[in-house]
Amino acid sequence: MMSLDRRQLIGGLALALTAPARGLAADLPAPALDPVLAKVGQLRITVLDTMVAGSSGLDGEWGFAALMEADGRRILYDTGASPGMVLQNLRTLNLDLSDVEDVILSHNHDDHTAGLLTLRREFARANPKALGRCHVATGIFAARERADGRPDRNMADLKVAYEALGGAFIVHDAPAELLPGVWFTGPVPRPHNERNWNPGHYLSGPAGRADDILAEDAALVINSPDGTVVLTGCGHAGVMNICEQAHAILGPQPIAGLIGGLHLFLNSRASVEATGARLKALGVRRILAAHCTGFEPTWILRQALDASPADVAVATVGSQWISGVGVQTGLLARLGTAP
Ligand SMILES: [Zn+2]
Ligand SMILES: [Zn+2]
Repeated sequence: MMSLDRRQLIGGLALALTAPARGLAADLPAPALDPVLAKVGQLRITVLDTMVAGSSGLDGEWGFAALMEADGRRILYDTGASPGMVLQNLRTLNLDLSDVEDVILSHNHDDHTAGLLTLRREFARANPKALGRCHVATGIFAARERADGRPDRNMADLKVAYEALGGAFIVHDAPAELLPGVWFTGPVPRPHNERNWNPGHYLSGPAGRADDILAEDAALVINSPDGTVVLTGCGHAGVMNICEQAHAILGPQPIAGLIGGLHLFLNSRASVEATGARLKALGVRRILAAHCTGFEPTWILRQALDASPADVAVATVGSQWISGVGVQTGLLARLGTAP
């Protein structure tokens, strides 16, 4: 987000948090500039759902989910494409989410939302607050329709069912710090016209239908000891735009890790090469490429970043990002051989 001054953004957030609901007027004092940004001490991100299964007992599908752990506090990011897949993989990985109260849905597509109810039901048995707060960005509940004109009620139905289970959606229209040093981007500004989504999904309204540009697509941005780490689900806002938003929130420090679905599998080689060049200029060092990134695009990005096979790899279920270590994935997921 080239045009946004980070201090204005952070200041605006502080103002929004402190201003009374009726009093957001021009005569309020200017917010303090240059606040000290919190930093996570230890960060671990574990992929729970993507196309490639890491080892026996784990399963893959066209979808995404990951667990973020920052200094022992955890957030679930996306919930997979089928109701039970993430839960099955959690059991194999011996992970219990009973103490995880916050979950994020990156956008409305069901390959990211389908596990929410199963997971809420399962872990609320031990802790009624488990996965009880679901963070989303503005636009996720917009009226939608499918290509054949039938209403797309995925999010409308999910909202009713999740609230019936005691869950509450929190809708963000701006960046929000969910944990110290851990930011939800909210809707991502799009200075780059990346348009990384499949056609055939529509917004519906009185004036007819329009392409669903996934205005709500949102990422997690973490201020880690290695630099900024970005976690994205399907990358529909565009990975360049997402990384620029990370800079807008945390400043122009290197992006030590970019993790998740980048939605480049349908893009031309020239487009992926241009994306790689821009990511390099934005300071991206390592990529754990999941879900809709594509294998060939991952290879092209690796070359564009001048990175080793260990630093830009295909994500498998169970693969991780660990602060101070980097990408942790099996040898099978590496593209190319070590130099
Ligand atoms: Zn999607
Ligand atoms: Zn997806």
